Amino acid sequence: MSTFQELGLNEDLLNAITDLGFVKPSEVQEKAIPLLLEEDKDLVALAQTGTGKTAAFGFPMLQKIDIDSRTTQGLILSPTRELCLQITNELKNYGKYCKGLNVVAIYGGSSISDQARAVKRGAQIIVATPGRMKDMISRRMVDISKIQYSVLDEADEMLNMGFYEDITDILSHTPEDKSTWLFSATMPKEVSTIAKKFMYDPTEITVGNKNESTSNVSHEYYLVNARDRYQALKRLADANPDIFSVIFCRTKRDTQKVAENLIEDGYSAGALHGDLSQNQRDLVMKSFRNNQIQMLVATDVAARGIDVDDITHVINYQLPDEIETYTHRSGRTGRAGKTGVSMVIVSKSEVRKIKSIERIIKKQFEKKDIPSGTDIVEVQLMSLANKIHTTETNHEIDKHLDSINELFADTDKDELIKKFFSVEFNRFFNYYQKSKDLSVVESRGDRDGGRDYGKQSNDTRYFINVGSKDGFDWMKLKDFLKEQLELGRDDVFKVDVKESFSFFNTEKALQEKVLAFFTDFKYEGRFVNVEVSENRGGGRSGGRSRGRNDRRSGASGNRRRDDKRERRSNDRRSSGGSGNRSDRRGRRSDDSRTSDRSDRKFNDSRGDRRPESSSTGSDRPRRSRRRD
Ligand code: AMP
Repeated sequence: MSTFQELGLNEDLLNAITDLGFVKPSEVQEKAIPLLLEEDKDLVALAQTGTGKTAAFGFPMLQKIDIDSRTTQGLILSPTRELCLQITNELKNYGKYCKGLNVVAIYGGSSISDQARAVKRGAQIIVATPGRMKDMISRRMVDISKIQYSVLDEADEMLNMGFYEDITDILSHTPEDKSTWLFSATMPKEVSTIAKKFMYDPTEITVGNKNESTSNVSHEYYLVNARDRYQALKRLADANPDIFSVIFCRTKRDTQKVAENLIEDGYSAGALHGDLSQNQRDLVMKSFRNNQIQMLVATDVAARGIDVDDITHVINYQLPDEIETYTHRSGRTGRAGKTGVSMVIVSKSEVRKIKSIERIIKKQFEKKDIPSGTDIVEVQLMSLANKIHTTETNHEIDKHLDSINELFADTDKDELIKKFFSVEFNRFFNYYQKSKDLSVVESRGDRDGGRDYGKQSNDTRYFINVGSKDGFDWMKLKDFLKEQLELGRDDVFKVDVKESFSFFNTEKALQEKVLAFFTDFKYEGRFVNVEVSENRGGGRSGGRSRGRNDRRSGASGNRRRDDKRERRSNDRRSSGGSGNRSDRRGRRSDDSRTSDRSDRKFNDSRGDRRPESSSTGSDRPRRSRRRD
């Protein structure tokens, strides 16, 4: 292991390193710095955020540029304003003893003329987001025709965000013979393309394996019913009283909603997403950096560039659409030599994605159960005990001690402790004492891509007497069922639409609700009949139309039974359905009584009633603001 001196850095930089308290170079610094100092060449470095990559390109750039010149010699492109500002700050810190150094940040959402003025004063290094940079080039506010070093930082993120054309346009204004240093956490095809197109025989260095998660992060997943997702999140937070976390959601709407629910439930949470103004985002980030917010709920795009070093947990409230994004999410924790945990809350229909992620990050996930109410109560109690133990005594209380002692004269020590703890602790105890178990048993095959529809299956398959003739395809039927039954997005699955009837699955726990709901339900004037099917649903998943495999796998007995059902269903159709309904239920159906209710149900908008999982009732334990 080398020291910073041995890497060949000059006195000014070494003094700054001492001030910063960096003891030894990180892996990426050890690999990149000597290489970049020694000769002017192109570099592709595969390194996650948090590995010290800013210094890996920053030190060599600071040492190589001519500080006595006012010409712009270095250009660093980064995906977000936040990252742009962070890099600028870091460079200013690294170059604090480089007299005359001027590093200027260029990014959208701030005065373009102020930035142009700062550049005019003579910026040896410009750190920019691609959009604003392109804009300033076209307005001739910057001159990058003489740069010698260009850095593409978080190249994968920039390309993900659609900056390919901006980057190529910007680079076309730079000299051919400059050196280009590309840093990326992952190496998708697009990044290789950029490397091939704009770099000459680059040296490649890798910190860890490509796309691999850092060794400081452990990965856990929690299998829950989709409707319990929010409750599960709260339990994970409650089981980790000192959590300081980023919670990732897929959409801006979910991000806002989860943050609002958490705040309403007394957690110190904040939302970070693209629908907020820059000012609002800055405020949230400031509170997060100052540890005033314990749970930052964010979208992937907004979270780019969050470089906060002491994040203890990343929680994937929902998995990202692009599995590769998981590497970026989990990289927000376990930074600067610290350890971190990346947790994933998954429903059964998503659990197979865990295996794909394991392949990408080359790490195993640990399957864990959502902590039970009893676990949480114990953790919270011990956390409170520790907090009391380490609290500095406030001697202002001394003068009241006699009165307090008098009040408790007859209370022994144990009783006093119990009373004292109960003040803070009862809300957790009351909330969790009747709480149910949220963990779902994983069946064999769930993780391997297919559900286990064998005897141990935890699902119920239903027959329903509507099909394509009624205007349904699998997606419409799934939406219809979800809406009517007020279920979550993953609660209805394996929807299989035939001409005049269909099948679908739910978790067994929902069976009673589903059957009860369809007892008296009419759709377009016709009774809808739902029964439990013996057909387990064949081998396919999702809901696209059933193919050959399905016919092959369906037991012939089941098929005959379902064919019979189809005939019955057609009979019902021609007779208006009620006759058959009364047969099935063994009682007379009363159209005039049921039609009102059914029609109302069908027209109900989902927004009127909250699903069970998103209730924000006042029975929750209110958390005191922490990190105060
Ligand atoms: P980066 O990957 O550049 O975002 O760096 C992550 C964090 O690590 C930043 O806060 C840096 O200041 C810090 N850092 C960079 N290099 C070192 C080092 N050699 N020793 C300790 N911390 C470092």
